[in-house]
Amino acid sequence: MKQCINCMTRLPRKEVTEVAWCALCAPCLRVVSDQMKLVHDRPGGAAVQIYRCGWCGVARSCGVGWRTRCQVCLDDRSVPDPAVQKIARRLELDGTWRENSEFIAATTVKIRLAKYFQPGWTVLATDVHGLPWTGFRWLTKSHGTWGRNAETGEVALLRHSRGEENLLYLVRYGKVLKFGRGNSHRVAAHVELGAVPVLVLTASSQEVVVARDRLKRLHRTEMVSMRTPVDLFAVLPDGQDVTDRCTPG
Ligand SMILES: [Zn+2]
Ligand SMILES: [Zn+2]
Repeated sequence: MKQCINCMTRLPRKEVTEVAWCALCAPCLRVVSDQMKLVHDRPGGAAVQIYRCGWCGVARSCGVGWRTRCQVCLDDRSVPDPAVQKIARRLELDGTWRENSEFIAATTVKIRLAKYFQPGWTVLATDVHGLPWTGFRWLTKSHGTWGRNAETGEVALLRHSRGEENLLYLVRYGKVLKFGRGNSHRVAAHVELGAVPVLVLTASSQEVVVARDRLKRLHRTEMVSMRTPVDLFAVLPDGQDVTDRCTPG
């Protein structure tokens, strides 16, 4: 027996279809049959197809010959995943379970995308294993994050943007805070994706690594509720405040 990840119905294995790394029953498959629109088919010969969700506009990368669906949108047949609802309670989100799940998924996608922003490239799409349904995001299977080179038009599999990671930052996505380390491109990427910089400190890369690790030990995850006191100066007392440089306008 297999279980449909969207409505949790248990069915014989031959009655489910693999979609976006998970198993879906036929009625759940029908609900999203025209959800995703193909926007890039094997760009530059790459073994990838990039789809955009017709419901919310978020793109997703997919291997050629695989089925996918939006990594943010749930539907009328979806049932809540207890692990995701636990995350929603920890983040003190006050929407319906579905709004909270979709917010967590959308923010997870943005945080993933921000890691790939770099000068000269437009990030097109990523693929986060387990979304939109589960909280098991630590599985690393993915069809990859893809981008287009501004000059040559080449579409390529992107790697995490490099450069000296000498910033410790705290940004706010809606009602949640996200801290992390990175360079100015990373913070600018978060801002471009809709985040508001709360505090950005600069120090040596080594000090930033240690400070970020201390924050992670204190808070366990990098996404916390807006009421959580995240004290960057406590972990990086010699950090220099450069928030103004990262604030648009
Ligand atoms: Zn189903
Ligand atoms: Zn969507």
